[in-house]
Formats: sequence, structure tokens, C-alpha cells
Amino acid sequence: MKIAIIGFGAAAIGFIERVKNSNIEIHVFEKSKDIYSSSISGIRADGKLFVSKEMGGDLDIDLDLQKQLVDFWISKTGNGNYETGSSFSNMDYYKQFYSKGFLPIHSDFYHLGTDQLKQILFNIYEEYRSLPNIHFHFESPVSQVNIEGETVTLDYDGAFDKVYVAVGRSGHALIKAIIKKYPQIVLDSTKVDIGIRFELPNHIVEDLNREMYEFKIKYKSKTGYMVRTFCNNPSGYVVTENYGDFTTVNGHAKIKEKSKNTNFAILTTVQLTEPFNDPIGYGANIAQLSNMLGGKRVILQTYSHFKDSKRTKNLYRVKPTLDEKKYILGDINLAYPRRIIESIIDFVENLDLVVPGVAHPDNLVYAPEIKFYSNALNNEEFKNLKFIGDCSGFTRSIIYATAHGYMMGEEILGD
Ligand SMILES: Cc1cc2nc3c(=O)[nH]c(=O)nc-3n(C[C@H](O)[C@H](O)[C@H](O)COP(=O)(O)OP(=O)(O)OC[C@H]3O[C@@H](n4cnc5c(N)ncnc54)[C@H](O)[C@@H]3O)c2cc1C
Repeated sequence: MKIAIIGFGAAAIGFIERVKNSNIEIHVFEKSKDIYSSSISGIRADGKLFVSKEMGGDLDIDLDLQKQLVDFWISKTGNGNYETGSSFSNMDYYKQFYSKGFLPIHSDFYHLGTDQLKQILFNIYEEYRSLPNIHFHFESPVSQVNIEGETVTLDYDGAFDKVYVAVGRSGHALIKAIIKKYPQIVLDSTKVDIGIRFELPNHIVEDLNREMYEFKIKYKSKTGYMVRTFCNNPSGYVVTENYGDFTTVNGHAKIKEKSKNTNFAILTTVQLTEPFNDPIGYGANIAQLSNMLGGKRVILQTYSHFKDSKRTKNLYRVKPTLDEKKYILGDINLAYPRRIIESIIDFVENLDLVVPGVAHPDNLVYAPEIKFYSNALNNEEFKNLKFIGDCSGFTRSIIYATAHGYMMGEEILGD
């Protein structure tokens, strides 16, 4: 059997790991120039691995399999270096958050760090490319997929018995093209997470950082929207992420180099109903409007100005970790819908009751931070075209994407 995998990210790696020793001929088409080139993916930035039934995606993935895949990633560091912890296993913390209306999320996590990820990816690639049945094609962006009876063709020569699309979120152009051609594969498309990246001095959250490193909480705000924390980075750095037609903020942390600040995202889940069917367009438009105000840069504002809808002109005690060429001091209220802003403020004010200092006026707020949910796609529609990882709409994390690929690998071995 000859198959193609489009994209070489977490899902592709999970898939290959499961089928690498079979006699299936595997062709991997990856748009990046080579294994060193960066791409928008968490396996190139930060690398926090979560073991949890409560977050990471909408698949039921056995905790033992999740842990087995964590061990796989750690084994590829070559040195076994990582940070680890557990969110809300300590009931005292659980109760403190719970009493103020928050829903604490349980998870174990293992942090590899941005500085180790390149080597990990390289180690994995070196092993796979030495296998006779695996063929890598870099600088090979796929822009179309055609089902032709029993086989599937791509932009490149050759027909495949099966194609696994594993392009993550950065591959949304390809997914859009496939959906245009085969609209029947879409199961659901209504959600987008819009929010901000919050940055504050380490000492305000040091107890939490020490206790659990990553604190994941959800909160039903007074607007009715669910708000949650995402991607906490103790002693971390705020960075920008370029999506081509817009730029957003993100955060990460390194194993060796540390900053004096902690950053995390505060995201509001916007779920709209008919006739709405373009969550990516909605999020992209808000991001573009923010970038337009920021002169193609992201907007930075102090928390008090964010709250009072005033443009920030000067900062006070908290020094941004984002490179100053990448932001402009401004007012996020000019770009974001009021309901989202109010949800975020409600969240921060309540969080301040549990973690005093979170609502200090000079803490920093960056925008836009947007997390797209890919459309949920139907893997039952075609027997020779499958979607794995984040582009399938069913995963949102490294471990869930790896596991999705791994489970699909198991399925093809059973065929
Ligand atoms: C900055 C950042 C930090 C993150 N941090 C974490 C974290 O710490 N922990 C966590 O669990 N999750 C994190 N995530 C989410 C995590 O990265 C993803 O959930 C996971 O990588 C999804 O795996 P995937 O294989 O579906 O996609 P990806 O890992 O994104 O891989 C997709 C691959 O497809 C390639 N590709 C895209 N389009 C095409 C095309 N048309 N043709 C060929 N190749 C293509 C891309 O170059 C990429 O290599 C982060 C995400 C981002 C953006």
C-alpha cells in the first residue's frame, strides 16, 4: 500500500510512529523548507505535553496511551530533560478557585521547552528518514487533493491508496480548498476563541507557578461566555505569530533562559449559530482590525486602560518581554466586541480575588490572541481520505494530535 501524509507535525509523527515498521510505503509532503525551518506549531514552540481527559481535544483518549506518547516525546530529547507538574491535584488550590466561581481543570503536564524542540524534531526525523519505506518531500506545499475512484492524487506526481491530511491549523488554506470541493465532510463550524495575552511579574503568581506551573481554569462570565486560561508561561516570553494575512500574540517559555514575567492567554469562546458558518473569517477579521490599528503590529495596553477604554501611552512597572518593534501602545477596545472585553475584565477581576495582584493597573494586556477551532471533519465520508490532528477539528494539543495519528495508524494496520 502506498500512502501520503500531508504535513509533518504532531499528528503525522503519531501516525508514523505506529506504522513505521510495517511494509506501507509512506510519502510525507511538508511545506517547510527542511526539518529546521520553523512553522506555526507547538512542536516548534514551548512544547508542553498534557495528560488529561478534560482538555486537548474532543476525542476519548486513554490516559495510558497519552502517557505512553509523552514518554515517546521525552525519549527523543536525548537527555531526558523536562519540567513537570500537576494542575489542581492539591485540593486546597482547587477549593480556593472553586469558591470564587472557577472550574479548575485537572491535568498532568511535562514541559520540554522551546530550546529543546528543534533537537527533538531532528532526532525523530533522522530515525524516520533512515527507514526504507519512509520518504520525505520538503518544500512541497500541497494545495489540492483529488479523490479519483480508488486512489487520491495531490499536486505532485503519483497516486496514493490513502491520503492522511495532517496540516494542523497553519494548513487552513488546504482544508478550505478541500471543503470547497467536498463540502459534505464538514460536521460543525461555529466556534472561535478570542482573547488577550496577559503578562505580569512572576512574584504575583509564584505560588501557583511553583505548585502547578500551568493553571487551567474556566469561568462562566456575567456575559454568559465561557472564559478560560490557556498556555501559562512562568518566566516566559510573549511572541508574535504570523498567519500571513494577520499577526497574533502567543507565549512560550524556555528550559534555560528565564524572564521576570509570567504570561498566559485569557480566551473567550464565541459560539454563534445559524446563519453563521465562518468562525475563522470572524476571528481573522478581528485580528486584521487590531493589526490595522497597530500599524501591522500587535496592540499592548495596561490592564487599567484596557478596563477604562483609554489608549495607553506609557508603561509603569511591568516591562514587556515582547520585542518593542513588534507592538504599539494602543486601545484594544477599538478592535474587540464589547461582550468579549467585558467577559475578560469580569474574569480578571474575579481571578484577583483568588490571586491578589492579577488586576494591578500596570499589568499588561496584548491583542489579538485568537485560537481557531478547525471545522470538525467527517472521517467516515471517504475511505481513502482522512484528516488527523488539529485540522480534523478534533484535537487542540500535541498529545491529542499525536494520539489521533497513532490511533489512525492502528486502524490502517487493522485494515
Ligand atoms: C505557538 C504555539 C504554541 C503551542 N504550544 C503548545 C503546547 O505547549 N502544548 C500543546 O499541547 N499544544 C501546543 N500548541 C498546539 C499544538 O502545536 C498543536 O495542537 C499540534 O501541534 C497539532 O498537531 P498537528 O500535527 O495537527 O499540526 P502541526 O503540528 O501544526 O503540524 C502541521 C504541519 O503541516 C505543515 N503544513 C501545513 N500546511 C501544509 C500544506 N498545505 N502542505 C504541506 N504541509 C503543510 C506545517 O508546516 C506543519 O509542519 C501550540 C500551538 C502554537 C501555534
